[in-house]
Amino acid sequence: MAELRREPITRMWVVITTDNPKGPSDYLSYKPPYQRLDETGTCPFCPGNEGMTPKETFSLSCNGGGWSVRVIPNKFPFFRIEGEFDRRPAGMYDVMEAIGAHEIVVEAPEHHQNLATQEHSQIEKILFAYRERMIDLERDPRFQQFLIMKNYPGVFNRHPHSHILAMPVIPRRIDEEILGTLDYYQRKERCLFCDLIKEEISMKKRVVLETAHFLVFSPFASRFPFETWIIPKIHSPDFHHIQEEAMEDLSVVIQSLFIRYSKLLDDPPYSLTFHTSPIQSQFHRPEYHWHIEIRLRIGLREGFEWGTGFFVNPTPPEDATAYLRGIE
Ligand SMILES: [Zn+2]
Ligand SMILES: [Zn+2]
Ligand SMILES: [Zn+2]
Repeated sequence: MAELRREPITRMWVVITTDNPKGPSDYLSYKPPYQRLDETGTCPFCPGNEGMTPKETFSLSCNGGGWSVRVIPNKFPFFRIEGEFDRRPAGMYDVMEAIGAHEIVVEAPEHHQNLATQEHSQIEKILFAYRERMIDLERDPRFQQFLIMKNYPGVFNRHPHSHILAMPVIPRRIDEEILGTLDYYQRKERCLFCDLIKEEISMKKRVVLETAHFLVFSPFASRFPFETWIIPKIHSPDFHHIQEEAMEDLSVVIQSLFIRYSKLLDDPPYSLTFHTSPIQSQFHRPEYHWHIEIRLRIGLREGFEWGTGFFVNPTPPEDATAYLRGIE
């Protein structure tokens, strides 16, 4: 048995298999080849090796000397900051220079840390670094969209780090979410995400955690096993306008969620992304509602998803919520 569920924001269909649902033990045997990789060579992100990286754009100092969080331009960027925004056709196709910023946030001086082992005060510093860099990068009128993302473990370096991208275009996933949000707004004159928050709080069964400022829940049409979203309960289109109090709350929420993942699924690999409104006055969307999406890289059926464009999720989100809530 399976259910087809439509994700209300992008209106994408997801197959949820409710018969014989999979639990944590089904995923424990899945270990990607890089997960147990031995470290060899010198880590450019470790203290003492700062000379191996470009000059930092931002850093926070430690009480005992040195730095606690450091932001540097990526040596191997997806986007480059130099150059002109030049959109042109190439036959039937459109081509554009990949102008943008791609910075790396080194999340801690210690090489072997992660969001489940980190103090929440350290996670708060990481969030602070994101916000400060975004406020600075927003002043460049070429940039339309921010994306914060993190792969764990890092693909090329296990030292805890994440990426801040400022892009010259709005990516498809964000664009789809905006279209869904605007369509809903035009019909109901209400924010789709705000309604979704109210609905989930009243239904309870997909709520992993609720705090003063945030709701952590398994989305109704979760595309991936244990997919989780973190969303501010008060309407706000932009992550980088977050206030200090909410930032502290968010650091506690992130720590709590990743401790649960780590205990339940033995330190699983994951990807995390922040979805926030496009920037610059002509693209900014006050109707949008920023949030964090987390996807565990377990139990993937990439071929089928790739071939059909829809997802098969063998762990119903209500089960995922129950498992995550069971860990305190
Ligand atoms: Zn390191
Ligand atoms: Zn809202
Ligand atoms: Zn999103």
